[in-house]
Amino acid sequence: MLEGLMMDYQLTLDKIIEHARRNFPNKKVITKLPDGSMHELSYREMHSRIKRLSSAMCDKLGVEIGDRVGTFAWNNHQHMELYFAIPGAGAVCHTLNIRLSPEQLTYIVDHAEDQVVFIDGTLLPLYEKLAPNRPSVKYHVIFNVDKDVETSLDNVVFYEDLIAEGDEAFAWRNTDEQMASGLCYTSGTTGNPKGALYSNRSTYMHSLGVLQGNSMALCEKDTVLAVVPQFHAMSWGLPYAAVYCGANLLMPGQFLQAEPLAEMIEQYGVTVAAGVPTIWNGLYHELKNNPRDISTIRALVVGGSAMPRALTVAYEKELGVDVLHAWGMTEMSPLGTVCVLQSHHIDLSDEEKWDVKATQGYGISGVEMRIMDEEGNELPWDGQTMGELQVRGPWVVRQYFRLEKSESHFTADGWFRTGDVSTISEDGYMRITDRTKDLIKSGGEWISSVDIENTLVGHPKVMEAAVFAVPDPRWSERPWAGITFVPGETADKDELNGYLATQGFVKFWWPDNYIAIDELPKTSTGKLDKKVLRAQYGQ
Ligand code: ADP
Repeated sequence: MLEGLMMDYQLTLDKIIEHARRNFPNKKVITKLPDGSMHELSYREMHSRIKRLSSAMCDKLGVEIGDRVGTFAWNNHQHMELYFAIPGAGAVCHTLNIRLSPEQLTYIVDHAEDQVVFIDGTLLPLYEKLAPNRPSVKYHVIFNVDKDVETSLDNVVFYEDLIAEGDEAFAWRNTDEQMASGLCYTSGTTGNPKGALYSNRSTYMHSLGVLQGNSMALCEKDTVLAVVPQFHAMSWGLPYAAVYCGANLLMPGQFLQAEPLAEMIEQYGVTVAAGVPTIWNGLYHELKNNPRDISTIRALVVGGSAMPRALTVAYEKELGVDVLHAWGMTEMSPLGTVCVLQSHHIDLSDEEKWDVKATQGYGISGVEMRIMDEEGNELPWDGQTMGELQVRGPWVVRQYFRLEKSESHFTADGWFRTGDVSTISEDGYMRITDRTKDLIKSGGEWISSVDIENTLVGHPKVMEAAVFAVPDPRWSERPWAGITFVPGETADKDELNGYLATQGFVKFWWPDNYIAIDELPKTSTGKLDKKVLRAQYGQ
């Protein structure tokens, strides 16, 4: 090593909370508590509680370096404390997704061998049902409950007691950036869930990624509403990024319905809010019926599924709120791309800008992308050619936790296969056209189910659409569409295909059949589950 090289500075998560304590001691996490009241916790106080919690985890619960510690909770200040206290104790914060089935959840707790699980009292009955007393779990720590709560769980400890017993002089144990800090399992529509294991370093780097100007550009002046759950893809990294830059962080607890969200946005002057399209669709309809001022929002971050263009237009045109379309995956910590316009877009018309904003955006600095054909050749970035999207970077998984590395997920030359199919424009704007498993191949040509769905939801009578492949003797596959109509409305095939024609779709792409469905099947993370539709209608 050459003499005079820069410091060997470990990128560990304690640095984030220490920075906030020093520079933004009075900024805070604001939580809507189970009783509906609002609770405020300053970063100074949170730092002190985190230290005591880390210390008590080690001394009272015997948590060792590298142990997995589960959390089963809504977005709240306790869950924030755990995001720092578990890595601070040298352990791995394993966020359990409350929406998984009992089979998936017991599999995950057992596979990760969680030693301790922290449980939000409002979810205690659910947890008892889903994963009662798993063999690896030595303690259940509960919060948001009365002391006289009845539970079937063994070895119960109360969260506040634990903090009271902790020592603020505790020395952080996450001293090496390569120590694991977080673990998230993907829901996996097929097979068992798979774990993405984050390190202190990858999470630290990802936090800087969220803060980039070309990304969400969070800063001290922001008030961030994290609707995206902490139990799913680390709330898109907002907990760490918001604390690092000293933004106030608003946590909605279990109040994810449009009405309380609208109230919180107005009351606190939220500037950045992040959630999936379904949430923002619900909020839009709520505001139509019962208007409130949400114009303080400078970035309505949306990802997890494609944001329908029509909804972006509605927010920007009617509500004066800028939409920031983002794409990511649990395997990418999760942020990959953000759709920020570039300077050469300035003179575009609004309509043209919305066309750009319907794409998932370009890779934030640190994320590399490429698209590949089935033979493993790299495809051109021309905005037209569709290929399998592959990524690599400092916060992308290298292999799944405790699973053999397989070619179906990782290429021999070190890229992660996302399972998404996309185009990329010459200036890097990536557009998801499908999941590889949802692709429709008709007469040798790929049809993008996502493009058709996004357009159909722009039809005034359509609420949600799922386009899926059905076997066809002549074309090998043809698209069919499951539709949930706006209450009281319906439309037939001619009307809907006529609409697709007006939107520029060639006849070959029009679904052969439309089926009205009360509620489209969804996965535990709220994505359309087309496997169910294929199984049901594929015969
Ligand atoms: P998350 O839902 O938090 O992004 P998941 O790991 O649950 O993370 O799901 C990742 C998958 O979700 C992606 O591979 C992609 O198929 C889909 N997805 C995420 N964001 C978008 C988006 N903006 N548009 C279309 N699909 C998306």
